[in-house]
Parts: sequence; C-alpha cells; structure tokens
Amino acid sequence: MDLNLTTEELQFRDELRAWLAANIPKDWNEWREKPIEVSFPYLRAWQRKLQEGRWAAVSWPKEYGVRGASLMLQAIFWEEMARAEAPPMANSLGLGLIGPTIIAYGSEAQKKRYIPKILSAEEIWCQGFSEPNAGSDLASLQMEARLEGDTYIVNGQKVWMSYGWVGDWCELVVRTDPAVPKHKGLTVLLVDMKAPGVDVRPLRQMTGESEFNEIFFRDVRVPAANVLGKVNDGWNVAISTLMHERGAYGARLHLLFKRNIDRLIELSHTLQRNGKPAAQDQVIRQKLAQCYGEIEIMRLNQLRAFSRITSTGVPGPEGSILKIFWSELNQRVQQIAQELLGSYGQLLGTDSRAVDHGIWSYAYLRSRGNTIEAGTSEIQRNIIGHFVLGLPRSY
Ligand SMILES: Cc1cc2nc3c(=O)[nH]c(=O)nc-3n(C[C@H](O)[C@H](O)[C@H](O)COP(=O)(O)OP(=O)(O)OC[C@H]3O[C@@H](n4cnc5c(N)ncnc54)[C@H](O)[C@@H]3O)c2cc1C
Repeated sequence: MDLNLTTEELQFRDELRAWLAANIPKDWNEWREKPIEVSFPYLRAWQRKLQEGRWAAVSWPKEYGVRGASLMLQAIFWEEMARAEAPPMANSLGLGLIGPTIIAYGSEAQKKRYIPKILSAEEIWCQGFSEPNAGSDLASLQMEARLEGDTYIVNGQKVWMSYGWVGDWCELVVRTDPAVPKHKGLTVLLVDMKAPGVDVRPLRQMTGESEFNEIFFRDVRVPAANVLGKVNDGWNVAISTLMHERGAYGARLHLLFKRNIDRLIELSHTLQRNGKPAAQDQVIRQKLAQCYGEIEIMRLNQLRAFSRITSTGVPGPEGSILKIFWSELNQRVQQIAQELLGSYGQLLGTDSRAVDHGIWSYAYLRSRGNTIEAGTSEIQRNIIGHFVLGLPRSY
C-alpha cells in the first residue's frame, strides 16, 4: 500500500487539525485528571460537539449524516485527535464496536433508532458478553432469554461490563435455545439498561476506579423487535463485534503510545540512574529504542489491517495480531516507565512529588487489564493458530 497521503487525505487532515485547534475546550487540562465518573458529562458534551462538526465516526455511511470517509481518513482522525491531545469521546464502545455491528446486522428501523444517538452520545452503549463462567469460552454463557408472546424474559448475570454504570443500552448475548450445540443457541438483544429488573453493581479495580460492573438481570422484559440479526445466530453477531474490538479499535492507541514513549525519552535525560542521566544507562537505552521501533511497527500493522478491511469489507482474524501486539507492547512501555521513575512511579496525582500528575502509576496498573480485555493473549494466539496458521483447534 502507498503510505503517502493523497491530496484528499492532506485536505482532510488540515481541515480537522484547524477544527481541533479551534474547538478543543480550553479547560480540558483541568478535567483530564478527574475520575471518569466525574468527567463523563464533559466527555459527552465533547462528543456532541464533534458530531455537530461531522467528525464522530467519519467512516460510517453518509446516510447517518456523517462523512462516509475511507478507513484511511478514520486512521488520520485518530492520529490528529491524539496529536492535539483532544479529550476522548464518551461513547467509545458505541462508536468503536457496537455501532458498526448494528450497521452490519440491524434492521432499517434499528439503525434509524439507535445510530444517531450513538453518534451524539445521547445514549451510551455497553457490551454484555462475559459471565462468571463464560469469558474466554464465551459460547458457554448461560444468561437465559425465554420468549413469551412478543417479549423475551431475560434472567442471569453478566460481569466486567465496562461503562455499565453509565450505560443506557447494552448489546447483550443471551441463550435462546439450550437444546442445540452451544454456539448455535445464542441471540443478541439490544437491551434498555434502565428497564425494570436490571441491577448494576460497581466492581472496584486496582486503579481505584470502578470502570466496570457486574449486572444482574431479573425477569427483564425485552421486546422481540430488539433482536439484532437473527434469532440463534448471536454467535456470528457477537464475533463481528469482537473483530471490530480487536481489529480497528487499536488505531486510536498508536499516538497515545507514541506520546508516552516520547515523554519517557524526554524524562530519561533528567531522571538519574546509577548517578548519571538514565539516557546514558545501557539497559534503559536499549529498552526505549526497542519500544520506539515496536510502536512504529504497530502503526504499520494497523494500516495493513485497514487496507484489508477496505478491500474485503470486514475485519479478519489478523485483528488478533494487533490486539496481542498493542496490549503486550503497552505493558512493556509501562514497565520501562516504572524502571525509569523508580519509586516515584508509584506516586498518585494527589502527591505533589508525583511525575506527570501520577499518570504513570495509574497507567501501569491499568495496563495489566490490556492482555485480558477483548479476549486474553492466550485466546488471541489460539485464534491466530487456528484461523491464520491453519493449526488444529485448541479444544
Ligand atoms: C479492563 C477490562 C474490561 C472488560 N470489559 C468488558 C466488557 O465491557 N464487556 C464484557 O462482556 N467483558 C469485559 N471484560 C471481560 C473480558 O472479556 C474477560 O475477562 C476475558 O474474555 C477473559 O475471560 P475470563 O475473565 O472469564 O477468564 P477465563 O476465560 O476464565 O481465563 C482464565 C485464564 O485461562 C486462560 N485460558 C482460558 N481458556 C484458554 C484456552 N482455551 N487456551 C489457553 N488459555 C486459556 C486465559 O487466557 C486466562 O489466562 C473486560 C475485562 C477487562 C480486564
């Protein structure tokens, strides 16, 4: 593929760059460090502003009032957002994985009903897949949905649901036919999180946040019209969501990683190691250079994935390569940050001696979840082994 930007791509980049310079809220720095529970309305308003400028989900079809742009332009969008240090968008799962699944599998009525409010962040979406006994082996999930007339009655428990505490809607995978082989009896429902019987409980993470939740469903009534795709074809619908999560979602991470490594290189000139600047330490130098190169590889691999999606229309199993790569790379970068900062790396933003407002302490702890969320590294390797290398299944 040609990695030079075309005239159209350069125009798009310049227009966006100017728009971001004029529109990123001036007080963003004051909000940046606040817990997400506090800053969420702020991020929601920011996404609405982006949508008003037709910048949210630039690559979705034009019929939703967006630009219908290429995936290359979508990649440029994420690069520019990161370069400008813009606030993230509130509805990240709606935009990154659930919206694309509704566009692919939804009825016209569903697309008309849900897509505009995903774009404007008026309705926040979450992903109800994992259960206490079904994570890697998602097809073993037990949440039951029984059809009574034209309504499904849903009972069971989900866990680790990101944004559950603020979610308006959920892409929920349920078992509609317990009598058939496990992959064949699943259905995806679009569920109103404010419906009677939905009980959301926070789970405290080691970062101190409650980013995700466990959710109990007791006799929750869901109209049959809210089935996404076909009844008992939920496995394919859910896999489509996961492919988006593993394949395209990492695009927005590249510049964040790049910013982190640039900052670590800068810090290595001032922080001391064995009585001299860390930049002169042979081991630290090797590690910084290694990660710098790997971040560039990540960028090129992401572009390769976009190129494939552009030609085939769907993300493929090689999305698992990206997922393993970015998640393990981020852990390596955060490990180097801790080696560089020494005991300062553990300080939180509340401590005046903390470097960069304690972001490194938070980022190190949060990075541990990277190799678990969206499917663990072992599962990604199994997928690559089977679907890319043609090895036998792992089970
Ligand atoms: C930060 C974060 C956010 C999340 N957000 C969401 C969300 O929004 N919605 C949602 O539904 N879920 C979410 N999850 C859950 C996540 O998808 C699951 O944790 C993940 O799929 C692993 O499932 P599990 O926790 O049940 O672990 P298990 O499946 O019990 O796995 C335990 C260990 O066994 C290994 N293992 C399992 N099977 C195999 C195998 N066949 N071969 C080799 N090794 C194997 C795994 O790699 C892992 O190391 C989130 C998780 C995290 C950490």
